[in-house]
Amino acid sequence: MATIVIDPGHYAGYNPGICYGYNEGTTMLTLAKYLGERLQAMGADVTYTRTTNDQNPTLAQRGSAVPGADLFISLHSDASDNPNMRGVTSYYSVQQPASEPFAAEIGRAAAGAMGNSFNGTFARMSETTPGVDFYGVIRTAVEAGVKNAFLIEHGYHTNYADCLVLSDPAALRRIADAEAEAIARHFGLTGAPPQIGTPAKPGTISGGCHFSYTVQPGDTLFVIGERFGVPWRDIAGASGIPSPYNIEVGQRLTIPWPQYTVPHTVRAGETIYLIAERYGVPWQNIANANGIAAPYRIEQGQRLLIAQGCQYDYTVQSGDTIYLIAQKFGVPWQQIASANGLKAPYRLMPGRKIVVPIPQV
Ligand SMILES: [Zn+2]
Repeated sequence: MATIVIDPGHYAGYNPGICYGYNEGTTMLTLAKYLGERLQAMGADVTYTRTTNDQNPTLAQRGSAVPGADLFISLHSDASDNPNMRGVTSYYSVQQPASEPFAAEIGRAAAGAMGNSFNGTFARMSETTPGVDFYGVIRTAVEAGVKNAFLIEHGYHTNYADCLVLSDPAALRRIADAEAEAIARHFGLTGAPPQIGTPAKPGTISGGCHFSYTVQPGDTLFVIGERFGVPWRDIAGASGIPSPYNIEVGQRLTIPWPQYTVPHTVRAGETIYLIAERYGVPWQNIANANGIAAPYRIEQGQRLLIAQGCQYDYTVQSGDTIYLIAQKFGVPWQQIASANGLKAPYRLMPGRKIVVPIPQV
């Protein structure tokens, strides 16, 4: 039986993200539980380094939680000063070069489930003690005889699109399923294989155009709706709040966003896979958004809507420029210009409503 230690990085409230309500510590505990449930169902022996948000074991306690375990996997999201930085990275021990393909497989699985790029797998060495791992959890896990010690950065919480994906419980489930499958394959676990990418309802993007928001003092559904430019009834519906629409401080709400789509007419010889590649979106999203079922056949001349991600309706504030707005959302300013038909010199008047396309959520 494979012995697996899952380490949700940090603790509650640690590392807030650029999108409302996100923090790395809380989200990684949720992801850890999803991953652990999946692995247990497939027959793995799973241990968590923490099971609540207020626990914060030391790096050494985490790494040595189960000496000799087959796998130690530490779950994180990344940060950068550059808001455009995106993608999944996985790390393995400098002392275990043979673990590289396994670490790459898990990273690739997570990236695929996020609809994100995979930035590669690395063994990061300590700058002060050569030959030893930079990451304390990896170092102490290897010292405790763990056979594969990994740290996975699930995209960047400093990037808007990555942050939104990580705020979506359905996306966390998909990531957990994909990682569990990669782990199960490696250890030859015989339990039921997970279903990758639970099919979304027709007309919706898998990954979802919505994000989580935690109710703050003074909030009402109406106030929150105004803040995000979303009808408050849509928030009530997405969050399952019945009349009389009472909400409590600390409650997590789901804020839905419209999809950002572009039309595409199918040309001779095109397949759904080719079109997906051309637009850089998962083909499953095109299938879901257009109600196309297996075997995913499309015809020349057929009109498709390509969901490129989510659309945020933003009201220009005084002092805003297109470049500042682009930076705030982590999207190229050129995309904001073309989505709103703006021409040089790209001047924006305060109060004007514009569309910000959030790519590939
Ligand atoms: Zn972290």
